Parts: sequence; structure tokens; C-alpha cells
Amino acid sequence: MSGRTLTKILIVEDEPEIAQLVNLYMGKEGFRTSVAKSGGEALKLLKSERPDLVILDLMLPEIDGIEVCKRIRNAPDTALLPIIMLTAKAEESDTIVGLELGADDYVTKPFSPKALVARVKALFRRLDRETSDQRLSFSFGPLAMDLSRHEVTVNGKEVSLTAKEFGLLEYLLRHQGRVLTRDVLLNTVWGYDYYGTTRTVDVHIRRLKLKIPLLNDAIISIKSLGYKLSDQAPALS
Ligand code: CA
Repeated sequence: MSGRTLTKILIVEDEPEIAQLVNLYMGKEGFRTSVAKSGGEALKLLKSERPDLVILDLMLPEIDGIEVCKRIRNAPDTALLPIIMLTAKAEESDTIVGLELGADDYVTKPFSPKALVARVKALFRRLDRETSDQRLSFSFGPLAMDLSRHEVTVNGKEVSLTAKEFGLLEYLLRHQGRVLTRDVLLNTVWGYDYYGTTRTVDVHIRRLKLKIPLLNDAIISIKSLGYKLSDQAPALS
């Protein structure tokens, strides 16, 4: 992981022993770290430290982990920032909420620091793949997208999409499994100078679902945030 030596990790944890332990192990791996003891401090450090990944405890005083997660996803410059959530077993429903709000992975307390390190590395590998992705085609169950031909097919049958519908679907496929806010989608697919509202995104998502019914269940609506394309592609029929 030599290419990751300048990688910064923000650890958000109010329990000092856990924060220290995580800090120690991340440091051993060559990551640069900073530690926030509260949600408020985390939001400040996000701005000043610009971390590459956040390890975020769910139960925090004042601003809790879910709220921090929401704010990270809602701000355009941190919308795609990878988040690993730390949760307790008793908070299983919160874990689900956390994942729905855009945490990329979670680790249940008590955890082994080595397992957490492994998750961090796995997430970075996944993101490296995503950013270096020069693929010209994607598949999602029976759906296939060919960028060079500008063509989308379902079970080999071509589906006619507008340029924006195509762009939206491509972005979802490139970031499969990640929560994408309406703002992020609007800015990337329509461009920063576009004057439309985020409702435009909803309208296009609806049209995509109408044209490609398998996306009905696959594009998951995340309350008050945006959308995510399911991790699980539908089975080939
Ligand atoms: Ca805590």
C-alpha cells in the first residue's frame, strides 16, 4: 500500500480507548490520521483535514454518526467520501439506517483492529478500481450498457434512452452500491451550470424505471438524500 502513505483517515470516536487503538493500527499501516471526539469536531476536521476516508462511530454525543454521515453525503465536495461505520450489535437497526444513509461499510463492536484495517484496505481497493475504471461497458443482470456504441440493452433487446437518461444510468452503474445525492447526480449528469432543480433527477429516475422495469427494485430511493443502485444485480432470466 505504498501509494497510500499520504492517505488521511479521520477517526470519529468518543470512546478514548477505541479511538487510540484504531489510531495506532491505522498509523502502523502508514495512514495519516486525525481523531474527532464528537460529531461537531468531525465536521470541523472534515473541512480542515480533507480526509480520504472516515471511520465513523454511530453513537456520538450531540451530533450523532448518522447525522454526520448525512451531512458528508449532502455536501458536494464530500459526497463520495468513503465511510466505514462503527456500530454496536444492539444497534442493528441503526446499522441498516447507516448503510441506507450512505456508509460504505460497517464494523460491529467489539471488533478486532486487524479486521478494521482489512475493511479499510478493501474499501480503498474498491475505490481505486472505481477511479481507474476505463471500462466501456457495464452489465447489471440482464442489462448491458455499451458506451462506445452508446447502447443499452436488456436481454439483448435495445432500449431507447435520451442522453440524460443514458448519462444518469451510466453514473449509477459506475458507482454501484453507493448512495448518490440528488445534488451530486444533478451536478455530474447535468453539469454545474444547469439551472434545473433536483426534481429533474427524480423525473429522470422515474423515466428510467418506466423504460427499464428491472430498475424498479434496483434503484433504491434513499429518503431525503438521493438514490443508489443496488449491490445485487438481478438474476439473468
Ligand atoms: Ca460512541
